[in-house]
Amino acid sequence: MGLTRKSTGADLNRQKNGKCAPEIKVAIAGNPNVGKSTVFNALTGMNQHTGNWTGKTVALAEGCFDLDGKTCVAVDVPGTYSLATRSAEEEIAKEVLCSPDIDAIVVVCDATCLERNLILALQILALRRPTVICVNLLDEAKRKGIEIDLELLGQRLGVQAVGAIARKKDGLRDLLQALGALLSINKKLLDTSPTDDNSKHHLSDKEKSDVAPLQEQSEFDKTTESDSSEKEKNFEGESEETVLTAEKIYHEVCRRKKSEDQDRDRLLDRLFTGKKTAYPIMLALLAVIFWITIVGANYPSQWLSTALFWLGDRLGELLVYINCPNWLYGVLIDGAYRTLAWIVSVMLPPMAIFFPLFTLLEDSGYLPRVAFNLDKPFKKCNSCGKQALTMCMGFGCNATGVVGCRIIDSPRERMIAMLTNSLVPCNGRFPLLVTLLSIFFVGGAVGFSSSLVSALLLTALIILAAGMTFLASKILSITLLRGLPSAFTLELPPYRRPQICKTLIRSVFDRTIFVLGRAVISALPAGILIWLMGNLYFGESSLLAVCSDLLDPFASLLGLDGVILLAFILALPANEIVIPIIIMAYTSANMLTDYSSLFELKTLFVDNGWTIKTALCTMLFSLFHWPCATTLLTIKKESGSWLWTLAAVIIPTICGIVVCMVTNGLFALFGA
Ligand code: GDP
Repeated sequence: MGLTRKSTGADLNRQKNGKCAPEIKVAIAGNPNVGKSTVFNALTGMNQHTGNWTGKTVALAEGCFDLDGKTCVAVDVPGTYSLATRSAEEEIAKEVLCSPDIDAIVVVCDATCLERNLILALQILALRRPTVICVNLLDEAKRKGIEIDLELLGQRLGVQAVGAIARKKDGLRDLLQALGALLSINKKLLDTSPTDDNSKHHLSDKEKSDVAPLQEQSEFDKTTESDSSEKEKNFEGESEETVLTAEKIYHEVCRRKKSEDQDRDRLLDRLFTGKKTAYPIMLALLAVIFWITIVGANYPSQWLSTALFWLGDRLGELLVYINCPNWLYGVLIDGAYRTLAWIVSVMLPPMAIFFPLFTLLEDSGYLPRVAFNLDKPFKKCNSCGKQALTMCMGFGCNATGVVGCRIIDSPRERMIAMLTNSLVPCNGRFPLLVTLLSIFFVGGAVGFSSSLVSALLLTALIILAAGMTFLASKILSITLLRGLPSAFTLELPPYRRPQICKTLIRSVFDRTIFVLGRAVISALPAGILIWLMGNLYFGESSLLAVCSDLLDPFASLLGLDGVILLAFILALPANEIVIPIIIMAYTSANMLTDYSSLFELKTLFVDNGWTIKTALCTMLFSLFHWPCATTLLTIKKESGSWLWTLAAVIIPTICGIVVCMVTNGLFALFGA
């Protein structure tokens, strides 16, 4: 597997002065969620995404920092519990750490669970590369009554161990000093090959004493000497000896007192993962998030819409003033601009609220508890509990959810998770769900009770989507992807007070702007295409009308009409443009007018034959249909197969067709 790497400031530096390239490369490694990205950011001054669960550091980031006048390049290595290559991420981590390009390794450890972190540290030390141990999260450890003797830890491991509170940038100077000492002692350290098992022993006595509080024979030396069997070299799992050594060192260097924080965490865990409380709390939190999003987004949406459509009118006047031809005016203003304005005004406010709230849950440590709760039902479907995490990622963006499936070790379970990810609605589908819920089921009024009803109905739809995910996973696991569920270790990180400002900034830049940008990019050509389809005539009918008439018979079986089905097909580039396409197709002028008022929108839909049944079937089809183009390309990339990509289209589409046909049939049966 090749290394993927984000283009960063380091690359720019290299291009500019060509100085950074052959200098020192330092890998920042460690278990997931121990603060590697935070240490990396603090060192390099770059802001990188920091999530709170395993698997988010998939692409490797690099950044330059200065060490005693030398330019160093820090590499943020994916989090891993061991070098015993299980998942794709662990493989990348191992590949980086064993790479001859790496001159030194900083192993970041979590002071609150040092014993588990020491297993990886011992494995990395066995690589015999210049290494520094950075024991991070000392503030949390202190709150939990944990004290660590860093000097003794260094002695036991035979390398320098420094303490840090990376979030506050505490201890970074010590880390830089330790790195400087390590790298400046002897160039031999850098020159020795990584496979040279005795690299450290090539140093003179003076050099040895400079490297760290090196003992004649550290615990680490003892372990690696006795561990020098093929087993250890090939990292076929943690050897029992490594685990025992980690335990022994931990008990020597760590003291624990009872603390209030421990009691608090235990109480929260009892609530969030308890048999009777876990599910009600999960659903209540989801409903509250939806409610805040719906209430909060309403007014800004209308303001944005008014402002953008006003601006569109002025732009139109400008085009008329400069004698722009009619067709160009139509393409630019009626097609491209109005679609864009609709998407921005409808999508931006809910996203700007939903994503930060979701990120706050992520940062507080709650989401891994959701995975823990959903582990049982997923196991019952013969799939992996970690799928709960990738499903949660899918709420933001299905493409992200599919990439996130890399955290699942078993290829069979990973495939199930990828194929079923689009059964949960991504951010691009929420506006349609909220809009139709508001106008057909809540009455279009904006108020406390109606927004609460909207939020509850949306929660019900999400439960349906999760149920469909379980069902599809179960069917896949007994048909195409047969097998037993694998065991996995899910780390439940401690509860942390989220950093609200950072969360806001990060979710705006990492998620909101990314998703909105994608929607805008795909909406522009789609807007132009739809305008052209609406204005190209075959006899009496426009191309748009011809296509929708063709689809009409099949669509009516699903409780939809030809226009709605055509909108879903044309919205393949981005789900967010389904409603704009429907509006354009219905308006006789084939252009999007300001439908910010839900009442006007309802009138337009009802005039075109919509009933509650049409709205319900449209929402259900929006929940269950083919994934968007970006998600499909991501599935192709991750699975490496067009056949599985086709399966990813067929599975949700069949679910959608069946659910809509049944709903339509039920309405017909009860004469509603
Ligand atoms: P990674 O997965 O190892 O890269 O970990 P991150 O850098 O993403 O950090 C995980 C979480 O721990 C984030 O919420 C950080 O803000 C938080 N964190 C990192 N270092 C510290 C620290 O020293 N103290 C505290 N309290 N939180 C920290």
